[in-house]
Amino acid sequence: PNQQRVEANILLLGAHNVGKTALTVRFLTRRFIGEYGDIESIYSRVDRVDGQEICINIWDSQAGGKSGSISDKQLQWADGMVLVYDICDRGSFEVTRQQLQLIRRSRKMSSVPVVIVANKRDLQHHRRVSSEEGHLLALTERCGFFEVSAAETYHGVLLVFHRLVDLVRETRALR
Ligand code: GDP
Repeated sequence: PNQQRVEANILLLGAHNVGKTALTVRFLTRRFIGEYGDIESIYSRVDRVDGQEICINIWDSQAGGKSGSISDKQLQWADGMVLVYDICDRGSFEVTRQQLQLIRRSRKMSSVPVVIVANKRDLQHHRRVSSEEGHLLALTERCGFFEVSAAETYHGVLLVFHRLVDLVRETRALR
């Protein structure tokens, strides 16, 4: 096995307030704080996957806005993407849909591994986007799909990042 340390650059995208920072902080520290600033940053965590050290860099983006635009710099940087929406916010699901289209249409990024995350599953009584809709979008666009709660559990969030890292490694092996 290759013992050299590899890097995986993971870009988090999605509308404002869907929980991108909460997911990032949960993954990095296992904690949920509740309130987060709007600081755009890149964070790193070193993990061991299949006996190989892998440095996971996470770019918690705060851009996007209503247009859901993604910068060229972000597209060039990313090896994999997490597209986050909030199950209580229909508009955020539409932003995810738009961002997926942007990614799939971009010649360079059309085959980048993507995992869709439906966050805030603890807020069932406020749900506006069904699990089926999320699943269907993921199936149609060949993405991974997870419903999680950054507020409630660490485990589901860990699965998201590890699944994406696996997909990034598979994509590299194919090249
Ligand atoms: P961002 O703008 O996408 O980075 O969103 P934040 O991470 O700042 O989260 C926005 C708000 O949603 C904050 O008040 C969080 O506490 C809250 N939040 C994030 N994840 C969850 C979740 O899984 N469940 C609930 N109930 N609230 C969450």
